[in-house]
Amino acid sequence: MNTKEFQFLSNISELTTKEIDISELCSELKKIFSEYISFQNLSLYIFDDVTNTLRNCADNWCVIDDKDDAYEAFENLKEHDFVINKKAYKLPPQLGDIKIKITSFAIPLVKGEKVFGLIKIDFNNEEALSIFALQVMKIFAAEISLKIQNIVLNEQSKINVDFHDSMKNIAKIIETQYELNYIVPLIGEMLDRFISDHLIYVFLKQDENFNLVWPKACNDTRIYEILSKLNNDTEYLMTSDNKIGAFPLMSDGEITGCIVARSTLDSLSKRDISYLEQLTRQSAITINRANTYSKVLQYATLDALTNLNNRRQFEVRLGQEIATTKRQKNPLCAMMIDIDFFKKVNDTYGHASGDIVLRTVAQIIKEHLRESDIPSRYGGEEFAILLPFTHIEEAQIVGERLRKAVEETPVCLDKMNINVTISMGLAELDSNESGEDLFKRADKALYEAKESGRNRVCIDKNAKP
Ligand code: GH3
Ligand code: MG
Ligand code: MG
Repeated sequence: MNTKEFQFLSNISELTTKEIDISELCSELKKIFSEYISFQNLSLYIFDDVTNTLRNCADNWCVIDDKDDAYEAFENLKEHDFVINKKAYKLPPQLGDIKIKITSFAIPLVKGEKVFGLIKIDFNNEEALSIFALQVMKIFAAEISLKIQNIVLNEQSKINVDFHDSMKNIAKIIETQYELNYIVPLIGEMLDRFISDHLIYVFLKQDENFNLVWPKACNDTRIYEILSKLNNDTEYLMTSDNKIGAFPLMSDGEITGCIVARSTLDSLSKRDISYLEQLTRQSAITINRANTYSKVLQYATLDALTNLNNRRQFEVRLGQEIATTKRQKNPLCAMMIDIDFFKKVNDTYGHASGDIVLRTVAQIIKEHLRESDIPSRYGGEEFAILLPFTHIEEAQIVGERLRKAVEETPVCLDKMNINVTISMGLAELDSNESGEDLFKRADKALYEAKESGRNRVCIDKNAKP
């Protein structure tokens, strides 16, 4: 074998041992080819059985125009070894030094007997290639076919892993959360991340209407049209071009909402539909459980995640404490706490880790308060605390100690420890002030703490000296 051919084939073999994705494969192939012959263009196409189209591997799997020569070449390659200058050939059995003038050629990508794609090479000028060189191309095509199958298989199993992760994550949300306003956007985000070429919309049904819950807007009238056609027996509905699919969220045989996927590229494939059906079923379970949970918890007094008073219970205790304080003329302070940059914790480490942070901060809060203090989880990552029998000077000392403890206590996540900080606003009750106004002032001070750099304690200026 010529050294040139030998070098070419050994470069190809080496390439097949590398861990690369399909677009890297294309660009590496071009490099190796350019050392072997001078060509104008090298393209790699794979046939998509679902849409009956050829897709360009190097260009994000874009469907190529149905008028492209590649379609005819693909058909011809099912019966032949090559398409040279647009004509199909079988390779002659005898090798020789005969040279063929070539402006373009295509070779099939094969899996067993089946042709699943092609490699097409165009030359600038007519290039004289020997039959031997074509034989080399055939060996090359066989090696690359195998490599592509490997890559596609790997990517497919990665999608499967991502899919199972999404299913698991959606199932897990419910362990600690029951506010639909919180979990529905999470479900939307998870689906959106998994189904990357499609936009996802989540609707919940209220009084016979589908209300968009995630994302913030949906201006596509076709989506509302398809929603109006849903009934309790609908498995799922597609538009005629298969670009929009509506997957009902069911609870006890009734539609309670709908997940809609709208493709930005091609129609939804059978595989996409199957994934979406399963994800929707999982989402429905999560949402239904959250609904049941929140009904039960209407009567509960503790927050499920942190075990602190929930907001509703806090309002009750606030009313009682204000009355007692005023009657007995005791001092009383309000403390508002908000975790700094908490969204970043969720975004970086995931919501489950965010929940661990919330629990840890709640635990530190409990440890630093007196028996008589009344801590609560006020909202997402905000805590409201009542400090009876406490003047602002003492409250400031307690607050500062608490702030420092949070700053210094590592939060143990699965794989690592992280540190978070809190900002705090304090206010002392004025003799003729309502509880609501007191917390408004504490909240104002908290805002100041955020504005002036976070991880600090601020006191409302109007508080008593
Ligand atoms: P700042 O320092 O200004 O407070 O920044 P931030 O990122 O903490 O503020 P922002 O209000 O933008 O983000 C609060 C985040 O808290 C957004 C929401 O997703 C998250 N969150 C609310 N409730 C929960 C919950 O129960 N669990 C988890 N993991 N995250 C929650
Ligand atoms: Mg906040
Ligand atoms: Mg915050």
